[in-house]
Amino acid sequence: MALYVLDKTRRRNKRQDDSLIAEPIKKEDEPNIRSINRLESIRHAHNIKKEECTDRMEDYLEVIYELIKQKSYATSADISESLNVSSPSVTKMVQRLYDQGYLNYEKYRGISLTQQGTSVAIDIHNRHSLLTEFLIMIGVNKEIANMDAEGIEHHVHPETLKKLEEFVRIVKKKNPKI
Ligand code: CA
Repeated sequence: MALYVLDKTRRRNKRQDDSLIAEPIKKEDEPNIRSINRLESIRHAHNIKKEECTDRMEDYLEVIYELIKQKSYATSADISESLNVSSPSVTKMVQRLYDQGYLNYEKYRGISLTQQGTSVAIDIHNRHSLLTEFLIMIGVNKEIANMDAEGIEHHVHPETLKKLEEFVRIVKKKNPKI
């Protein structure tokens, strides 16, 4: 397929040469253009992966926070069940969150959050509540609002959140029934 596409490009270039519309592409330029594009796509993929990883970390912290609120501690099994992920994945992520200073792990007392972990979890929790409230306000049903907020919560600029908060507050003031 790639060869076919390249071949077609060459043929098109040849046609352009024939009609003297475009300069012929110099041979040494081709690999450069290709490697720049390749580098861009690697960088792009890497950024997506990094973003996905941050989203996951935030979800873990939020779930751990909720579990601690409910039963004053969290175990790997609880997290695995709540997030519907395998226990090796939980172990890996718990290790990463521990390394980065977000949680404490004690063999017999389970997992707890550090101050840094708690503050990320509370931030995500508040974002989630606000976004859900906003989506319900504009007519989205509760289940979908919750589902969408789960994804959006990681990607909203603080400035946008501030504006959304103001908006929700004003609408509620005008229509207390909402
Ligand atoms: Ca989420």
